[in-house]
Amino acid sequence: MLFRSSEWRVIWPDGNVHWLAGRFQVHKDTKGIPTRMSGVNFEITERKRIENELRLANEDLAQFAYSASHDLQEPLRSIKIFSELLASRYGAKLDSEAQEFLNNVREGAGRMEMLVRDLLAYNHASTSEKATEDVDANAAIQAAIANLAGAIAETGAKVDFDPLPHVRVQQIHLQQIFQNIIGNAIKYRRPGIPPVVRITVRRDDGNWLFSITDNGIGIEPQFKEKVFGLFKRLHRSDEYSGTGIGLALCQRIVERHHGRIWVESEPAKGSTFHFTLPTPSSSRE
Ligand code: ADP
Repeated sequence: MLFRSSEWRVIWPDGNVHWLAGRFQVHKDTKGIPTRMSGVNFEITERKRIENELRLANEDLAQFAYSASHDLQEPLRSIKIFSELLASRYGAKLDSEAQEFLNNVREGAGRMEMLVRDLLAYNHASTSEKATEDVDANAAIQAAIANLAGAIAETGAKVDFDPLPHVRVQQIHLQQIFQNIIGNAIKYRRPGIPPVVRITVRRDDGNWLFSITDNGIGIEPQFKEKVFGLFKRLHRSDEYSGTGIGLALCQRIVERHHGRIWVESEPAKGSTFHFTLPTPSSSRE
């Protein structure tokens, strides 16, 4: 039996606008010819009103986050430039305490710059209306690896990947997913053990399932969901630098494409991050 559903905007005799949802089924005879239809209509005006308020509130919030992070860039640039000038021109004249204070200012500005950059990327992933493209995942991962070249060289990391397929997404978003997860695989390495990162892919129910495995510090089972929360970190900034936005950004991108993202991990052995994205033909846009 095939169930169908639909929603209608209806103007009642008193002139008020109401919303109705209907769920119905078509009955057919033995030859497959429709003979009758049965179903139910119910009022969803209140649900529609709340959904609309939520949508407007989310739009306001996204606009606020964008403006706040965007407008922070300019004063931040001044702090960076002038504290660098102070260090290079007057550094020798400062006593050790003043130099330490100046270093704190520069470090703080660096952390804030990372935060602003990540917040803007998160906002873009949440609000971008740009159409998705047929993206070659090999090009996206190569761009991500090129951006991580410094960290790869510094740690002696080995990153290898299978030939990857095409997926339906924005190129920049796929690159950000790879860059965040591979970047984390390198950052959260075990002391003295060079990172080994392997990326594989296989079909999963009409989608592509990507898996990124590392040999790093791993994640305790009770934190496997928490790590995807915005600003959620398991470590302090002086242990590992970061903003707690990277995995939330990955989750936001994947979920906007009706995909899933999750992690399997064994503490002190390593982690595997999995995510699914639509194939060019399975896209539901
Ligand atoms: P960031 O790395 O900026 O802190 P993320 O959102 O990318 O933020 O990650 C959230 C947290 O998840 C990290 O702070 C870290 O504690 C944990 N984490 C992420 N990736 C890994 C990994 N590959 N191995 C171990 N822990 C990880």
